[in-house]
Amino acid sequence: GAVLTVGRPLPWQEAKDKLTYVRQHGVDQFIQHYRRHETKQRDTLLYGDEIEYGLFKLSSDGASLSLRGGEVRSLLSNREAEERRAIPESGKVTWHPEYGSWMVESTPEKPYSGYTDDLRRVESSMRSRRARLLMALKDNEVAPTVVAFPLLGASNDELPRNGPVASSVLVPDDVINPHPRFGALTKNIRERRGSNVEVIAPLFQDDNTTGDAIKADAMAFGMGCCCLQVTFQCRDVDESRHVYDQLAVLAPIMMALTAATPILAGKLQDHDCRWDIVSQSVDDRTTDERRTSLSSSSKGDKRLAGSGTRKLRTSRYSAAASYVCRRCDLHSCAARYNDVEVEVDESALQKLKKEGIDDLLATHVAHLFVRDPLVIFDGLCEEVDDNTQTDHFENLQSTNWNSVRWKPPPADSNIGWRVELRTMEVQLTDFENAAFTVFCVLVLRVLLSFDLNIYVPMSKVHENMDRAHSRGAASQQKFWWRSHMVVPGEPCAGDREDSVVEMTLLEILTGKGGYYPGLVPLVLVYLDSIGCDPDTASRVQAYVDLIVKRASGELQTAAAWQRDFVCTHPDYKKDSVVSPTIARDLLQRCHSIGVGDVHEPSLLGENVVAPVRKENAYNVQLSRVHFQTSSSLCTLL
Ligand code: ADP
Ligand code: MG
Ligand code: MG
Ligand code: MG
Ligand code: MG
Ligand code: MG
Repeated sequence: GAVLTVGRPLPWQEAKDKLTYVRQHGVDQFIQHYRRHETKQRDTLLYGDEIEYGLFKLSSDGASLSLRGGEVRSLLSNREAEERRAIPESGKVTWHPEYGSWMVESTPEKPYSGYTDDLRRVESSMRSRRARLLMALKDNEVAPTVVAFPLLGASNDELPRNGPVASSVLVPDDVINPHPRFGALTKNIRERRGSNVEVIAPLFQDDNTTGDAIKADAMAFGMGCCCLQVTFQCRDVDESRHVYDQLAVLAPIMMALTAATPILAGKLQDHDCRWDIVSQSVDDRTTDERRTSLSSSSKGDKRLAGSGTRKLRTSRYSAAASYVCRRCDLHSCAARYNDVEVEVDESALQKLKKEGIDDLLATHVAHLFVRDPLVIFDGLCEEVDDNTQTDHFENLQSTNWNSVRWKPPPADSNIGWRVELRTMEVQLTDFENAAFTVFCVLVLRVLLSFDLNIYVPMSKVHENMDRAHSRGAASQQKFWWRSHMVVPGEPCAGDREDSVVEMTLLEILTGKGGYYPGLVPLVLVYLDSIGCDPDTASRVQAYVDLIVKRASGELQTAAAWQRDFVCTHPDYKKDSVVSPTIARDLLQRCHSIGVGDVHEPSLLGENVVAPVRKENAYNVQLSRVHFQTSSSLCTLL
């Protein structure tokens, strides 16, 4: 995660004088860093997940946030250090801070490897993280893996509103992680924009519903959403660019399959996903930048990126803007399918090109630099050494929150070129979280080893992102998808516009017509072809069955299930309002499902979650250790 610098973030008015400096040096740092790592190769496949959790207090009359994220994180980090010697390498965990002061994030300390039996390590790592988190909870607390706190902005706690940071009438500043970075992000987004952020979501319509929209006014409504992210290490820079493109196409469909956000600010929304909410919650564009007309009369402020008057299509939290792969056999694909106009910082683009960075990558990077750095720490600007450090590049990179993130190797590390998929919504159980993580890993392996690609025009990817939000998208929506997989050796040749058609997720997963085999059969064929050990193969089968049943509608998404839970609750008044008691019961139920105390067949089918117990938190029996002798240790590479 972002390095949490110690120090004082500059207030926006002071930061303004440094924005240009950071942007210019950020580009220089990227160029130097790129040159240093351009030839870096890593033969091992590594990947890791990130899971975010919310901490909630339940009471007889409702539920509230438990603002103990920092406390819980340090407790767990300390305990992790104390138990270090007892925990096998593969069971070690890292705890990270998150935006909300009620949130915490976990990752495996070491990424998973490319051995097939490490696919099972994903779920056991997630389960032991959940068990450890349970250990840190107080008696009245729960930590279900729900995307959002249902009552955010709708609870009547006594904390003061209209704080100096978020200036929100709905939430107190106390909900923001107290590390200065998070407050500065919140305040500077608002100040750059010139007003409070404005979140608007469609309201679910029921018999007694009044109104047609849900409105919210603070970054916390978006950045307080919990998600599931997966990062993949690639062989080299070119593979990372190819993987970036493929994940950009997968991003919307993986979001639809994991849809888990039916509630916003105490009301049922008519969308199933969080993305639009987050996007609006951090939209720092000026009125001018958000305009729909072509020209602007405003002179703007020379210190801001594009003087604050460049028309920008999206918030800085958005889908990938352009494809970047430069593999010569696929080059025409990436370029041809980039059919969406990408705003770039012209001087950054010229500099990158002059330094020999190819057009596709130069465009990607110059697009990051149409935004301003949001947090600049006092005294830590001119001191950064462009020859060895990447702080200014990372400043922009880490606040361009896109569906996919292309991650150059971190400075001073062994890590190679990586790509992160950022659209998946966190699932109630680790069975599901592991299922989606593993599925993504395997789809990528299939695409790489069978030399397939799933390009569709970028405009269609963006349309897919929109469609993924719609209620019931997982089983009812259609998405733009290739009607055939490209045959190796003749990529793109003769490829026509009509090779992209609309498919349901079930068709995308299981196949359609004579030329599109479907992702799932390919995954299974692939596992078979590498001689995957039987234990892993059967676990993967359970994972793909779950995912296919989500798409067929046989099983519900967390979004559909939670909406039903609310609508059938005895306190529900058919008015789309999620009352405190409904929210409490929902959070309790979600927690119970997550720890395996309650089985929900409509969500999980026959897959019963074995109980997660805090007593076993550090006593990990991991697949890798367990199966070492029986497994063939075959790799996914
Ligand atoms: P961020 O929040 O910036 O995405 P995190 O540190 O929270 O970063 O998560 C990074 C993820 O990448 C973790 O899941 C981690 O296990 C994984 N990871 C770390 N090193 C590698 C690597 N070499 N290859 C692939 N994944 C890695
Ligand atoms: Mg993280
Ligand atoms: Mg992060
Ligand atoms: Mg996070
Ligand atoms: Mg991440
Ligand atoms: Mg939209």
